[in-house]
Amino acid sequence: MDYPLNCVPDHPKESTKHVCIFGTGDFGRSLGYKLLQCGYTVIFGSRDPNSSNLIPKGAEVLKHEEAAKKSTIIVIAIHREHYDFLTGFADILEGKVLVDVSNNLKINQYPESNAEHLASLLPGAKVVKAFNTVSAWALQSGTLDASKQVFICGDDAKAKEAVAEVARSLGLTPLDQGSLLAANEIENYPLQLFPMWRLPFYICAGFTILIFLYCLVIEVFYPCATNKEDTSYLIAISIPNRVFPIVSLILLALVYLPGIIAAIIQLYRGTKYSRFPDWLDKWMLCRKQLGLVALAYAFLHAIYTLVMPIRYYVRWWADKYLMNQIKGNTTYPFQNHYAWMSDSYVALGILGFFFYMLLGITSLPSVSNAVNWREFRFVQSKLGYLTLVLSTAHTLVYGGDRFIFGPFYRWYLPPAFVVSLIIPCAVLVMKFILVIPCLDQRLTKIRQGWERGAKC
Ligand code: NAP
Repeated sequence: MDYPLNCVPDHPKESTKHVCIFGTGDFGRSLGYKLLQCGYTVIFGSRDPNSSNLIPKGAEVLKHEEAAKKSTIIVIAIHREHYDFLTGFADILEGKVLVDVSNNLKINQYPESNAEHLASLLPGAKVVKAFNTVSAWALQSGTLDASKQVFICGDDAKAKEAVAEVARSLGLTPLDQGSLLAANEIENYPLQLFPMWRLPFYICAGFTILIFLYCLVIEVFYPCATNKEDTSYLIAISIPNRVFPIVSLILLALVYLPGIIAAIIQLYRGTKYSRFPDWLDKWMLCRKQLGLVALAYAFLHAIYTLVMPIRYYVRWWADKYLMNQIKGNTTYPFQNHYAWMSDSYVALGILGFFFYMLLGITSLPSVSNAVNWREFRFVQSKLGYLTLVLSTAHTLVYGGDRFIFGPFYRWYLPPAFVVSLIIPCAVLVMKFILVIPCLDQRLTKIRQGWERGAKC
């Protein structure tokens, strides 16, 4: 990595802020460069002070012991495996703030966190875990394109504040995570791969595959087996355009189902002070992600629906419909009932999609930070249920006569849209039961701390 020569101002203001960095590797140099830019005096501690010609201009490089004497804050930009050498000059490090920036290759790689390990090697030092979620590249590129969050933890409040101050000077946002016990969790952050999205992804993938296969059986295998008809062209647009809305509706219902299950559990137990089962906790925590995947699928459904008029298959059917009238010298009568059904179906879909979008937008951190808790709950709960009602009604109206029309039940299987209604209808019915005043009042009391059988 090259560092511009102008990283230090020509006439730097007298700086009283010193930071020592042990290790002249990628991270140490990038942090040093950024600190110099922000007016700090940087002293590197290195095994061989003359070896690296990549040191940012303006920084001093000394042997570890010498460098340590020049600053109260020492960033240990060295891999955990090499920490042992620090015990050789433990007396110099006594009382110093040691910033552990290290990461591991695997989650929970060691029995104790790297920061706790460092603290156990140097009990006289004040160890603070920080900066491990900031990459060398982010520091190099001016922290404009990367996360600015610096998770900080440590047992000494003053030491933590000193490190937080350094983070703030670099334009980063320090987030106090508590004592050094939190270091393990902080060290695991950079190793996690979309942890909150995993469950929603599996649920979504599972339903997508299931509904796709179900539609394939009904719409492609059935005509092929019974009439030797090739309808495989439906795989490109028609079947996905059934899968997306169906999975979207099911996922939206699954956003509200855990809340209902939690309410039933609380009513049954007569208290809110006992833990929910783990699976329910996990499910509740990923509701936002489930909702966002549902919104993405609803969006795909909207796009797929817009291309309908330009499809060859649709135009062919429209032409055939017209030709039949011409050949029969007849005009099919206008059916008011069907006009109402089709307009209502489209209107419900548009409104449902509008509220879906509103839900998605309010879940963005920048928007949710701007509304208070009551407003957020109103949008996510009341408007969420309205979206579920509208989307379910959209599907019910789409079904119309088809619910009872025999040819749609192929191999005794109900059409896919009927399957899609099971969970949403169950959720709405249960919600309807829970808002019955006697249950609603009992639930409200429980959520305010009332317990069945408890002495007042
Ligand atoms: P690196 O490029 O390999 O540098 C590590 C430095 O440690 C070396 O340059 C060396 O400096 C020193 N070192 C190596 N072996 C040593 C030994 N046996 N005894 C004493 N010192 C030794 O690694 P890095 O990428 O800078 O990472 C350093 C630390 O920062 C790691 O703990 C890493 O997890 C953490 N981190 C890195 C990043 C990143 O983006 N790279 C981001 C967050 C956290 P001298 O030759 O000057 O002694």
